[in-house]
Amino acid sequence: MNKFVQKVDTVRQRLYALQQGVSNSSLPQPGVMPPEGLEELQVALEELQVAQEELKAQNEELVIARAQVEAERQRYHDLFEFAPDGYLVTDNTGIIREANRTAAILLNVSRQYLLGKPLINFIPYEERRIFRAKLTQLHQIDWMQEWEIHLQPRDSEVFDAALTISTVRDWQGNSAGWRWLLRDVTARKQAEEKIRNIQLQNLQLQEAARLKSQFLAIMSHELRSPMNAIIGFSQLLLRQPQPLAKSQESMVERILNSGKHLLKLIEDVLDFSKLEVGQLQLQLEELNLAELVTTTTEQLYSLVEQKSLAFQVNLNLQNPYIVNDSDRLRQVLVNLLSNAIKFTDSGSVQVDVWELPSNGIALAVKDTGIGIAEADIEQIFLEFQQVNQTLTRKHGGTGLGLAIVDRLVRMMQGNISVESQLGEGSTFRIELPRQVRGEGL
Ligand code: ADP
Repeated sequence: MNKFVQKVDTVRQRLYALQQGVSNSSLPQPGVMPPEGLEELQVALEELQVAQEELKAQNEELVIARAQVEAERQRYHDLFEFAPDGYLVTDNTGIIREANRTAAILLNVSRQYLLGKPLINFIPYEERRIFRAKLTQLHQIDWMQEWEIHLQPRDSEVFDAALTISTVRDWQGNSAGWRWLLRDVTARKQAEEKIRNIQLQNLQLQEAARLKSQFLAIMSHELRSPMNAIIGFSQLLLRQPQPLAKSQESMVERILNSGKHLLKLIEDVLDFSKLEVGQLQLQLEELNLAELVTTTTEQLYSLVEQKSLAFQVNLNLQNPYIVNDSDRLRQVLVNLLSNAIKFTDSGSVQVDVWELPSNGIALAVKDTGIGIAEADIEQIFLEFQQVNQTLTRKHGGTGLGLAIVDRLVRMMQGNISVESQLGEGSTFRIELPRQVRGEGL
């Protein structure tokens, strides 16, 4: 623009000089310009034309720039207007000066009504004192984020809101007003409340589970002592030097067997409840697996003999040392073996132990017994599940054995699988790492 003014000035000066030249000249015919004057006028006119062109170009640029500014302004206005949160601008007494659509919707009033009203009108009575105090504080601070308060829309329900406020300052740094972002946080609050309730229920459940397992531990301890007395004295009675009468002997045997059954049930319930609440810890140690399998199978040998079953143990271990909990591993093996014996009336029971390529060990208990239908295989690892109630009544059992085995094997970082066909026998196979790692390792 300055350049153009300069150019016009130059042309104006030239014209002035020309005029002077013309009026001072002593031409014979007034009004006729000397040739040098004409030339100068020509130049001046050309310069004026160039300047005019430039002005036009500049004007066009200006129009484009103005359109861009307007588009940008519109964009920001749309952002403000259609933002999903409510935006307000108030002066420094809290009177609403600007509001977007969402703010009007949140406060349930038309925008015209909103402008010029104090924002405090939309705060419930009981919170207005706090709100005023906050406004006083706001004069000092520039920014306040997610201040939680209730908003009272016109003719509608109070709702939970979070306000983010920034102070607008004038050129002297005095607070001139505030920009407010209003967010409806009802859904968030409800979700938080739900989480709090769930956490509370969770704590109550944990406490109930703790009390349950404490109760079970005490009960089973209390039950175990008299059971041991019943079993011990029955055994003593059977081993008396003077033999009992046949009918008495059979009665004592029944007392003894029922006692043993009950003791097993008590122990299973106790183990299971400990496993359920994660109170059972493995006592890890290095142990000789070959020895453990041999001694355990020997313990059960009398049961196999009673049923005249063939019994085979195949140990195939280069290195018999593993890290595991010997009592719990024995418990797993006893459970599998006693089931195999229990559910096999003729044929054989076989135990195989071998090493796996990935530094693991495998243990299989195979029988030629009644087998399990495919549909039932999933069920048998669930607590208190027994496939055939009539059969089970005949064989006894609690329905907890495999549930305990499954949980123990998982604690040992291993897995258990079954292959079975009804009437064809079953094979339970366990895979375990050679070294079970303790917690936190
Ligand atoms: P239980 O104390 O009844 O033996 P388990 O949890 O050990 O409880 O076994 C659950 C059910 O799985 C048994 O009642 C039986 O129906 C079935 N089962 C387990 N092992 C065998 C097996 N070797 N052969 C056939 N059925 C089996």
